[in-house]
Amino acid sequence: MSGYIIVTGGSRGIGNKIVQKLLSSKRHVIYTYHSNDSAHPQLELLAEKNQVNCVKYRIDHSKSDEVNKFHEWTLEKQYKISGLINNAGISHNNLVLNMTDEEWQSVINVNLSGTFYMVRAFSQTLIKQQSGFLIHIASTRGIDGGVGLSNYAASKGGLISFAKSVGMELARFGIRNYILAPGYIQTDMLADIDAVKMKSILKSIQMKRVGYAEEIAEMIFFLIDKEHYLQNTVIRIDGGLQGV
Ligand code: NDP
Repeated sequence: MSGYIIVTGGSRGIGNKIVQKLLSSKRHVIYTYHSNDSAHPQLELLAEKNQVNCVKYRIDHSKSDEVNKFHEWTLEKQYKISGLINNAGISHNNLVLNMTDEEWQSVINVNLSGTFYMVRAFSQTLIKQQSGFLIHIASTRGIDGGVGLSNYAASKGGLISFAKSVGMELARFGIRNYILAPGYIQTDMLADIDAVKMKSILKSIQMKRVGYAEEIAEMIFFLIDKEHYLQNTVIRIDGGLQGV
């Protein structure tokens, strides 16, 4: 397959495993990061082994001017873009009574506005090509809510309805659109959960384990590589999470 796949937040966690899976499957990748590019040498080695390109780009996705510059940079470089995976995200958990403006705004800015800026910019490219895909990493929290997660749940719920609307607007240009809603996935984002809380979380998951970033990457690979009838839908990947 020709063209570059853009992965936002490819430096760590789920995004990093998505980048690894794409490179291993001989896809060219441009990934973004915010402050940590220590994984890059390892990704470059993987790209070299698979004879594809892996390009990194530093950005703050919550800033629309930075996203627009990123888009212009891809045009100047004449990168053909085959798809965009909106993965970058943050959480700042707190009960609503104690939540600061900064905790609210920063999460909305990165998770929701950041995705909007990326889709607004790069859908221009995909529309011109009359092909491509968008994949958005939301969360089961965006459907179910969660205690201490009102900012995060609002950002992901907003992302789900934003992305569904975008899918409706762009389908006529041959653009495929998918929303993933992972449950608990083992990354830095779960680092603050203590052992007692984790025990109760595991009880609420039918498969009795958290998920792995590789499992999200596998689902993405299925969506972009296989023939299927999925379009503009929300796919839960949560091991059968009930409540919590
Ligand atoms: P991590 O914290 O492990 O990684 C987050 C990634 O996003 C990093 O690459 C980080 O870059 C990047 N990032 C964060 N803020 C910005 C920003 N302002 N601009 C550019 N890049 C940024 O998170 P996960 O891998 O766990 O999460 C990935 C996505 O999956 C998120 O959207 C998250 O909400 C979602 N998700 C995660 C779940 C989980 O249980 N882990 C469950 C459901 C959804 P850098 O390394 O430079 O800081």
